[in-house]
Amino acid sequence: MTLIARVETFLVAPRWLFVRIETDSGVVGWGEATCEGRSETVRTAVQQLSELLVGRDPLRIEDHWQVMTKGSFYRGGPILASAVSGLDQALWDIAGKTWGVPVHQLLGGPVRDRIRMYGWVGGDEPAEVADHIAAQVEAGLTAVKMNASGRMAPVATVAEIDGVVARVAAAREVLGHHGDVAVDFHGRFTLANARRVAPLLEPFRPFFLEEPVLPESSHLMAQFTASTSTPVATGERLYSRQEFLPVLQAGIAVAQPDLSHAGGITETRKIAALAEVYDVQIAPHCPLGPLALAACLQVGFATPNYLIQEQSIGIHYNLGAEVLDYLVDPAPLTFVDGYVERFTGPGLGIEIDETAVRAADARGHAWRGPVWRHADGSFAEW
Ligand SMILES: [Mg+2]
Repeated sequence: MTLIARVETFLVAPRWLFVRIETDSGVVGWGEATCEGRSETVRTAVQQLSELLVGRDPLRIEDHWQVMTKGSFYRGGPILASAVSGLDQALWDIAGKTWGVPVHQLLGGPVRDRIRMYGWVGGDEPAEVADHIAAQVEAGLTAVKMNASGRMAPVATVAEIDGVVARVAAAREVLGHHGDVAVDFHGRFTLANARRVAPLLEPFRPFFLEEPVLPESSHLMAQFTASTSTPVATGERLYSRQEFLPVLQAGIAVAQPDLSHAGGITETRKIAALAEVYDVQIAPHCPLGPLALAACLQVGFATPNYLIQEQSIGIHYNLGAEVLDYLVDPAPLTFVDGYVERFTGPGLGIEIDETAVRAADARGHAWRGPVWRHADGSFAEW
């Protein structure tokens, strides 16, 4: 029987943490445990969890998930869930490579042939937004997402409100009647701001409005969903089925588990099954690296209630390295008319350039999210 021989981690630019599990038969699995701004802490958690894996059968994925997640009296939260996620992805990669099939074949087989992708657009001014969207459309994408605003006062000013509307209006003008624009409130809005702005955006028919309330304020979500006809999305900072349940019950339309934060492939499949009961689609959060993206897509190829996939090629965070830089062959992540074709390679379906990853880890990174302040000097949500 093949056993897990060792677990390694790699802190690589721009802000990612890769996990490598090696077996004594030579099969190697890769995963991504990136927790943006907290990856050094997660690295320590991965190393501690590896005590539970070395010397064990890598194919007992569900059992490993149970023990890693519950095998300590204190549990939960983004650090542990991200560590488990990266290890879980690597175990699925090993399983696929062991049987010589893509992971989606192990999840019940394909339910679709290709997956629609969306990209990020930045820019503070409406004209900048329009230019960035035009570039994404030129690259073949038919859907984009952008932040609604920068810093927002707890009760927004007229200028702040009009700024949000102008940006979304500019996006709709570039996209015409066919493209989609999702608008991310990013936890920057109070419930009052979100309820005031959402009706003003309805004429531009956003694809969805994302994270209208903070993840710790899920008890407010039902008030927001009741206030707008626009589909509501959330979930990048929810880490289990249990944390998704209240927002599903509150009437969201799109659940956004992050494959590197929500317990990996194993838990995301279960979140999707729970979402299906509430007539909710999943659209996994992924402004991360190639391994997280491949894990998202493997779930997407096998999951019926799966809407679209986020990806971060060209995102403003990607300083020093890009999504395709650590791949031997970028071909699986080529977009054609805004879609990715179903992967055919074994495991996660991409091949990591180990030499490039080891060299990048030697350089490391110390990415941190910004700390924002309001005009009066008090803390502001980023
Ligand atoms: Mg978001």
